[in-house]
Amino acid sequence: MQHINDTVIDTLPSEIRSLLDLLNDQQDDMLSRTIELAEINSGTLNRDGVNQVLESLLKLTANLSSDHERIPVAPWEVVNDQGDIVHNPLGDALRIRKRPEAPLQVFLCGHMDTVFPKDSPFQKVKWLDDETVNGPGVTDLKGGILVMLKALEVLEQSPWAEHIGWEILFNPDEEIGSPGSAPLIAESAKRVHLGMIFEPSFPDGSLAGQRKGSGNFSVVSHGKAAHAGREHHLGRNAIRALCDFVSAMDDLNGQRTGITFNPGFIHGGGPTNVVPDKCVHKFNIRLEHPDDEQWCLDKLNDIIDGINTRDGIHLELHGGFTRKPKLLSPANEKLLALAQNLGAELGLSIDVKPTGGCCDGNNLASAGIPNIDTLGVQGGAIHSEQEYLKVNSLVPRAKLSAALLLTLAYRQANGDQLEWLRGA
Ligand SMILES: [Zn+2]
Repeated sequence: MQHINDTVIDTLPSEIRSLLDLLNDQQDDMLSRTIELAEINSGTLNRDGVNQVLESLLKLTANLSSDHERIPVAPWEVVNDQGDIVHNPLGDALRIRKRPEAPLQVFLCGHMDTVFPKDSPFQKVKWLDDETVNGPGVTDLKGGILVMLKALEVLEQSPWAEHIGWEILFNPDEEIGSPGSAPLIAESAKRVHLGMIFEPSFPDGSLAGQRKGSGNFSVVSHGKAAHAGREHHLGRNAIRALCDFVSAMDDLNGQRTGITFNPGFIHGGGPTNVVPDKCVHKFNIRLEHPDDEQWCLDKLNDIIDGINTRDGIHLELHGGFTRKPKLLSPANEKLLALAQNLGAELGLSIDVKPTGGCCDGNNLASAGIPNIDTLGVQGGAIHSEQEYLKVNSLVPRAKLSAALLLTLAYRQANGDQLEWLRGA
């Protein structure tokens, strides 16, 4: 018997082990379904493609529950490259629930979208070697969807399933920061005790612990057009104003620990004989503490106010912080320790590492729900055409998630109220 913090962890009971053995021969099935999902293009803005993935998931989950709810989400408002505000329609979300009356409620989440647009050349899955496939979304996150579903199938076959209720959210927009599905995650957070999110683990199988927060912003600079030769003095140069903003913002790097500002995109102007009247800049901020958001906003507004005192120049700031930093609560630490321990029981050595990346685990943690957000497959090079999946990670990762669900259900069934998960 080991003690992790004050949570006592027994060796995995043999009843749980024999249920996990049901997964031993599932690799081929998991892989073929992962490939089917990966070969449906579901770039976030390919609404039809995302909805086609949703249709496939309706079929794949038909045996798990009959409580399926297809939920439209709000369009994504962005500043386009010309500085105009546009609204992009998104695919629907799918929520699936089971036993909402059970004493312990688990939230499971996986996104259906990928970063590869409809016209990307990267659409097919191919083998790289005996253990590795390369394809769009195989690891981020379609392989993870199969890990989630197989783990739930095992839970449903266990005698303790009635002690756990669960709800899945398949969301359509994680890759753009979940702007449309964030309210759905917040809604679930009011009902559940813990979260399991199926983003890929680190390539070596490690789980993500603490995560930075993130914000995406745009600044549109407005000036006044004039002929560069005849009336240069009448023009007000939007590019110059924006360059001053970018320099001042970039100088904020290093002023406060853990905060980074990244100028990421700039577009504006036209013929060189015209004083440009518009220019657009997009940037990202990462931070470690929720309080840092206000500091950033104050600094940005100071810079903008300063530049806006200039005659004929007007800068507008759009966007905001979409992901709060994920800080690990004591309950979250224990949940991670439990996963590490179960991993060790299964022969998987699992580390926990902090990361600057964000995901839906940030949203859930900011709502006070302990969660593990990297329970998906092992692979790497995600968000690139080199994205790969380690095929032989499918079954072990499904076992890890199944072991978590089964252990919680088993303990609940045996009178353990799991107070540590309930903020007690
Ligand atoms: Zn992802």
